Amino acid sequence: MTDANFNTTYGIVGAGPAGVIAAYLLARQGVLLLEAHHDFDRDFRGDTIHAGIMELLDEMGLAEELLKLPHAKMQTLGLTANGVTQQIVDFRDTGSRFPYVTMMPQCQFLEFIVDRARAFNTFSIRMGARVTGLTTTGRGYGIEFKEDGVVHTVVADLIIAADGRHSTIRKLMELHPKQTSVPMDVLWFRKHSLIYFRT
Ligand SMILES: Cc1cc2nc3c(=O)[nH]c(=O)nc-3n(C[C@H](O)[C@H](O)[C@H](O)COP(=O)(O)OP(=O)(O)OC[C@H]3O[C@@H](n4cnc5c(N)ncnc54)[C@H](O)[C@@H]3O)c2cc1C
Repeated sequence: MTDANFNTTYGIVGAGPAGVIAAYLLARQGVLLLEAHHDFDRDFRGDTIHAGIMELLDEMGLAEELLKLPHAKMQTLGLTANGVTQQIVDFRDTGSRFPYVTMMPQCQFLEFIVDRARAFNTFSIRMGARVTGLTTTGRGYGIEFKEDGVVHTVVADLIIAADGRHSTIRKLMELHPKQTSVPMDVLWFRKHSLIYFRT
């Protein structure tokens, strides 16, 4: 049993889309958000925010502010084959308040949400903080994270594992995801061209 360096209501592991949105929604009640990377600027992240997400952000009072940031709006989607371009999707027909796909780098989106969470003094984020273990403390289960070579301990009423598809927490908990097949694979190139292979 170890003493905790940090006590919080919600300990959230991972500042991807899931972690930052959860952190923003819970910030008022006390959140410590831990992110392994030192910034949000990573390769191979999606740049599209779809209408359904924009509507949720609107309900959270964030859509208008988000759309003040540099972005592009994709209203239609075309396919060019043998020199002929055909429009295959028209988002203007969706009936959404946001009848387009918002194109914005994911790092900009994540920074925006974290900035809004920072408005609450009950929220804090530690970048470069990699969760490495689970532990027990005087108050219950906790997590250990490593930052600049130093190991710290967090106890929280609830630990939220938002650390992505290769989740460390999931491995530490010895939980085994059920493998399912996916309808397609996607290859992603730096120049933002996409090739889809149906399997
Ligand atoms: C090539 C590609 C393109 C995509 N394009 C789009 C798109 O255009 N639009 C869209 O909506 N979705 C897109 N997606 C899907 C989208 O990126 C994912 O659905 C989304 O990132 C999942 O969010 P998440 O928060 O669950 O996990 P992640 O985004 O993976 O975030 C997990 C976070 O946890 C951190 N972390 C991991 N381990 C630890 C640890 N031990 N301690 C602390 N932190 C840790 C990671 O550094 C990371 O920041 C794309 C995915 C890929 C791979």
